[in-house]
Amino acid sequence: MSLNTQILIAAILGVIFGLILNIYPETAFFSASLYGLNIASSIFIGLLKMLLIPLIFSSIVVGVSNLQASGQLNRVWKITLACCVTTTTLALILGLACAHIFNVGKGVDIVMFQETMSNYQSPDTLTPSSFFTNFIQNTLINPFKAFAEGNVLAVVVFALLVGVALVKGGEKFKTVKQLSQQFFDIMMLMIGWVMKLAPLGIFALLAKLVSTEDISVLSRLAEFAAVVTGTTIFHGLVVLPLLLWIFGRMDPITFFKGTRTALITAFATSSSSATMPLSMKCAQENLGVRPQTAGFVIPLGTQLNMDGTALYEAAAALFVANLMGLDLTIGQQLIVCLTAMIASLGAPGIPSAGMVTMIMVLQSVGLPAEAIAILLPIDRLLDTVRTVVNVQGDMMISVVVDRHTQEKDDVFDATA
Ligand code: ASP
Repeated sequence: MSLNTQILIAAILGVIFGLILNIYPETAFFSASLYGLNIASSIFIGLLKMLLIPLIFSSIVVGVSNLQASGQLNRVWKITLACCVTTTTLALILGLACAHIFNVGKGVDIVMFQETMSNYQSPDTLTPSSFFTNFIQNTLINPFKAFAEGNVLAVVVFALLVGVALVKGGEKFKTVKQLSQQFFDIMMLMIGWVMKLAPLGIFALLAKLVSTEDISVLSRLAEFAAVVTGTTIFHGLVVLPLLLWIFGRMDPITFFKGTRTALITAFATSSSSATMPLSMKCAQENLGVRPQTAGFVIPLGTQLNMDGTALYEAAAALFVANLMGLDLTIGQQLIVCLTAMIASLGAPGIPSAGMVTMIMVLQSVGLPAEAIAILLPIDRLLDTVRTVVNVQGDMMISVVVDRHTQEKDDVFDATA
């Protein structure tokens, strides 16, 4: 049985087992199972996290030095950025449109949520400017601290600089370049080993998620949850594949077949960072993206490109406004979009990161941060789908960027 099939079966069994556990809470069977599931999922996530930082560092160093040596770094940068901005903007428009079309939150009785909101401790105000200051202060730091703390963005910035330095040094740094390449190859080999554990890890993660979720809370917010999930799926199944087909000339079936492992892992872990090692492997080995492109675009995309999160934050802001009986003006909606874009750029790829940056989006138009308390109970469930779309976007962009830079290479080869 192929690994992909094993993962798919494990995911289905995980959900079924989780539902069974959900029926028998507070029994010895429940706690024993939960203990086992916790151990299995921690081993899988732990191994992925262990490889994450060394992988990001080596892949960016190798990617940048190879791209810069072939004179492509500039082009790759620009196409990556253009793709991120385009897909995120489309996601934001979809988020707003779905909230308007379905009028989410209108007519829902706010009194129902009053108690939850009053019990919520609002954190310090998070304005876009303080967010930016934090962003810079957390990014330009001692690289060893960044490695030790798993600060992805700071590692990305340091690796970019080392990559450029390697090219500038040329022959002088040949050994370090070779060392980085070999180190990267070792990481990829180890990811292959971790992937063998993926069926077990995904089974445990999904069973745990379903068994500990209070499904009754979901019913109160079912309409909002269904609209956001439906729109996120639309973005992932229609908008992104269409862009991939037009700009990357790849058919959706090939794409989804090749990326199944990463997408199911994203669903089960709700973390694009934890999924990144698998996204990179899928992009390189199943979609044929050249290692230097995947090694550069995917770690960067994991940090900066989050369509699912952007869409969710825009829709959720409108949902909260509707709940409060407020009509946001066009200007306010633009502010929501802009803040949601910044928020999705800065949100780390971990579970429920979008909830923290959501505070900033709410506050940007004067909505109360306490409203987060309404969304929190359903966040873990919604996070699964938006993380899949976040990860999908990264792999899709790597295909588009690779296609466009490859053509340039071919032209150079032909004229040489
Ligand atoms: N969990 C998401 C991710 O890792 C971030 C979010 O909470 O929206 O991509």
